[in-house]
Amino acid sequence: MDPKFAPDLIAPCGMNCAICKNYLSYTHGVPTKRGKVSHCKGCVPRAKNCYIKRGCPKLSKHQLKSCSQCDTAPCKNFAHLDKRYRERYSMSMVENLKTINAKGMDGFLAEQTQKYRCPSCGGVVSVHDKKCYTCGYIEKKTGV
Ligand SMILES: [Zn+2]
Repeated sequence: MDPKFAPDLIAPCGMNCAICKNYLSYTHGVPTKRGKVSHCKGCVPRAKNCYIKRGCPKLSKHQLKSCSQCDTAPCKNFAHLDKRYRERYSMSMVENLKTINAKGMDGFLAEQTQKYRCPSCGGVVSVHDKKCYTCGYIEKKTGV
């Protein structure tokens, strides 16, 4: 069974909330490392005011829905977040947005499915803690 990823879980910055440990904790009722079950339904469903959105007049005034529609992306805040994700989680939101623009949302979601499928149960492996919240599988570090 393949994980099902949905467009409404793609945050304005290009983050796929379906692979976020907080979202997986919430949907599976499994505590994160901090020992608590998260209540996060995803950035878009929560209309979360993240620091990228707060720092961007186009997003906060709803002129744009996604940074993928922005001519000047990545802004300073976004570049900072992207750098942190590349270093810590081997993931880039900027690359995600490029894929969305090049292959469309369906193409991007299909790619995410390949990338984050749990080899053990077909669930979803979190980008943050490399853990499958369905079966408990933990991806071994591949070395960067
Ligand atoms: Zn699994």
